[in-house]
Amino acid sequence: MFFILNKLIILTIPLLPKFFVKIFANKYVAGIKTSEAIDIVKKLNQNNLSCTLDILGEHTKSKNESYAIANKYVDIFKQLGQNKLDCNISVKPSHIGSDVNIKVLSNNIKKLIDAAKKNNNFLRIDMEDSNLTDLSISIYRENFEKKSHIGIVLQAYLKRTEKDIENLDSFSNIRLCKGIYNEDKSISFKNPIDINKNYLKLLNKALEKNIYVGIATHDQKLIKSCLKIIESKKINKKNVEFQMLYGVPMDSTIKKLMSQNFKIRIYVPYGKNWYEYSIRRIKENPNISKYIIKNLFK
Ligand SMILES: Cc1cc2nc3c(=O)[nH]c(=O)nc-3n(C[C@H](O)[C@H](O)[C@H](O)COP(=O)(O)OP(=O)(O)OC[C@H]3O[C@@H](n4cnc5c(N)ncnc54)[C@H](O)[C@@H]3O)c2cc1C
Repeated sequence: MFFILNKLIILTIPLLPKFFVKIFANKYVAGIKTSEAIDIVKKLNQNNLSCTLDILGEHTKSKNESYAIANKYVDIFKQLGQNKLDCNISVKPSHIGSDVNIKVLSNNIKKLIDAAKKNNNFLRIDMEDSNLTDLSISIYRENFEKKSHIGIVLQAYLKRTEKDIENLDSFSNIRLCKGIYNEDKSISFKNPIDINKNYLKLLNKALEKNIYVGIATHDQKLIKSCLKIIESKKINKKNVEFQMLYGVPMDSTIKKLMSQNFKIRIYVPYGKNWYEYSIRRIKENPNISKYIIKNLFK
């Protein structure tokens, strides 16, 4: 019964009023204001979880707005430093200027790396759809001399990623995820088994190159296989971390990983553009109907 209910909810959820979706969005989004997100980061840090903050939004069309968003991130770096929080920043290139022009994006990235450096922090460039892969990687490489302050994301569903890892310098810093965009089958693996197989191949390759890897997945089986690789290669636990999205229930996995002394980082998104992100997360939740029913009767 829950299977049919889940399907029904997934189909109807985009038709629901925003205030209704907000009830469920609260699970996946750390508020609208920076102060709300910082409060969540403080709580997560108190539970020994590292964080990365992301202002929700993409495809900014104006130069002024792109600069304004970058300035907001600079301010967040300052606040994270002042509050001594264990939290870095993740940013989407299209949020800070790639749709305007490369110069705007490049200026903003440089500004953010400087802010990261000043505050002894770190900037991760999120990976968007395949139209932006070359640009994102090239901007990462261009700024790599400040390597302790910048990292990139690579997606296991893209066939090109193996080559991309080969071309990265040793001691680069990547987040490895499956990938969330709908890519063409000519450039991507579509079958979940193939994606997981490639994920493990890429993890092997990256670790062999002494690349720091943020293993970003909620897939229990995949996490187990990653642990086997880390163990068999005798990888120093300081060279990897596990990353998960805020709100996805992973408590027992987190506990297990922590007991093995792995670092866990929670991706904490927030901001006024919460709606689209929440819809995506809600649709991915296999227990959506149980969750909705529980919330309705709370
Ligand atoms: C920290 C982090 C950063 C990311 N950054 C990027 C990025 O920059 N670019 C990009 O393309 N993608 C990014 N992603 C998304 C990623 O590519 C996947 O699309 C997403 O994580 C789902 O894949 P999965 O590896 O968790 O495995 P899946 O096989 O999709 O999920 C595994 C299991 O996780 C559980 N689960 C998943 N989602 C939910 C949910 N919403 N609620 C409850 N349970 C759930 C389910 O039990 C599911 O069976 C990121 C993911 C993480 C964790």
